[in-house]
Amino acid sequence: MSVELGLPKIRPQAPQLAPRRKSRQIMVGSVPVGGDAPVSVQSMTTTLTSDVNSTLQQIAELTAAGCQIVRVACPSQDDADALPQIARKSPIPVIADIHFQPKYVFAAIDAGCAAVRVNPGNIKKFDDKIGEIAKAAAGAGVPIRIGVNAGSLDKRLLEKYGKATPEALVESALWECSLFEEHGFQDIKISVKHNDPVVMIEAYRQLAARCDYPLHLGVTEAGPAFQGTIKSAVAFGALLSQGIGDTIRVSLSAPPVEEIKVGSQILESLGLRERGLEIVSCPSCGRAQVDVYTLAERVTAGLQGFPVPLRVAVMGCVVNGPGEAREADLGVASGNGKGQIFVKGEVIKTVPEDQIVETLIEEALRIAEEMGVEVDLDDDGGPGVQVVTAP
Ligand code: SF4
Repeated sequence: MSVELGLPKIRPQAPQLAPRRKSRQIMVGSVPVGGDAPVSVQSMTTTLTSDVNSTLQQIAELTAAGCQIVRVACPSQDDADALPQIARKSPIPVIADIHFQPKYVFAAIDAGCAAVRVNPGNIKKFDDKIGEIAKAAAGAGVPIRIGVNAGSLDKRLLEKYGKATPEALVESALWECSLFEEHGFQDIKISVKHNDPVVMIEAYRQLAARCDYPLHLGVTEAGPAFQGTIKSAVAFGALLSQGIGDTIRVSLSAPPVEEIKVGSQILESLGLRERGLEIVSCPSCGRAQVDVYTLAERVTAGLQGFPVPLRVAVMGCVVNGPGEAREADLGVASGNGKGQIFVKGEVIKTVPEDQIVETLIEEALRIAEEMGVEVDLDDDGGPGVQVVTAP
């Protein structure tokens, strides 16, 4: 089942920085990856895969956050045994992540997983098994991700290059592809992950120039949320702005839902995905006549989950405020204890400062209603909205 964001269109798609690199398209279950398919966002569960209920619960949370493809680790037989149920009940395609034991590749294919990720550097005698894997995968229509990782690079290439250079990562990936190609199997996507965005960017650039396989972008072991977000945004931004990348996974030492939020935001920022709620708020300065931080936070919280793409400007004074507020779908320019409320470029009213947030929420609801989207306030009538129906 593919997951559509289902956002009604309020404004044209943002212009993109570069045409997408031409890649062949594969299907990860119902989600196309590569070709002209939108760049998809994926994550990985952190539960024990053998704990089917917890894993499915986390997959449900990820799906609600916008995750389109999910990967689950499969380090043991108990995990392999859980795959059929997880693959069957997951609302989004499930990829089994296999290291060390080739037998789990076959188990994942038999289990109905949408794809299998293999790390050639971590699977002993992997190359000897490729014929059998290619045959099983082709028979089931299951694509393979060749996931090369700097931390587990093939020993032969480590000796040749001395460390995990971009060239070493690319050679490893293309070598494995060539072995699959010998068996007529090209239902492949590739990742060449490194924890250093500079090495990672260069590796993907080289890879993009040398094959037409779809590419899964990732900065591996990117770190805790703040550092990992910055590294991923920089690396993915550099590549996606050149049209390179077909699916992304942000790796954070944080709950996986955070990875989805960051990944989605990166795509939205680059105009590769319809923007949802976008708060354009000023950084505040000595001219501010209102507490911009609190106001922006309250508006963000109040409109969280809003089902209509909306750009809301929250500006601290009348210097840049009216200009930005006019450009947004909805906005406020504050000053003298009051807020001028803008809707679609026009001032519709001026309200006292303590009514700014509720007025913006009211107007946002009105915009949604005009678009045929019904939205309810939370049970307590406070900030935060719940979608009742969306077209
Ligand atoms: S809008 Fe006003 S308060 Fe906000 S940063 Fe600009 S000048 Fe400062």
